[in-house]
Amino acid sequence: MAQYTSICSNCGGTEIGNYYQHLIKGDLLWSGHANCKSCGSNIEFDGVGDLPDELKPAILAEEGEWQLVLDDQNDIVPALHVLRQRKQVSLKDARAVLNDLKDTKTTLAWIQDGLRQVKINSTLVRCSS
Ligand SMILES: [Zn+2]
Repeated sequence: MAQYTSICSNCGGTEIGNYYQHLIKGDLLWSGHANCKSCGSNIEFDGVGDLPDELKPAILAEEGEWQLVLDDQNDIVPALHVLRQRKQVSLKDARAVLNDLKDTKTTLAWIQDGLRQVKINSTLVRCSS
């Protein structure tokens, strides 16, 4: 769970939002709600797939940044195909992404799940800083 504040579109007051990432039966989802203390407006939102980039910093600040490392570097070619599918990147970009695959733990667990389906083992490592 991560929290952020934004401006209420209804009254201009301060809105407190909470959001979460979920991994449910192999599907990556996210959801959240924002509540305005001034006017009481309550908005719920959710989505399928990876969390929007603007919502990631708060989760990274809270859970830390994680990195996915392949257990066996010989798996790199099939791993690139999984990555291309999950991260919506070109095969060319997938290689660069895989070399430095850092993200939220939940997003990486979802990629790890895709890798597992093609029998590739990987490890999630918490980045030190
Ligand atoms: Zn409001």
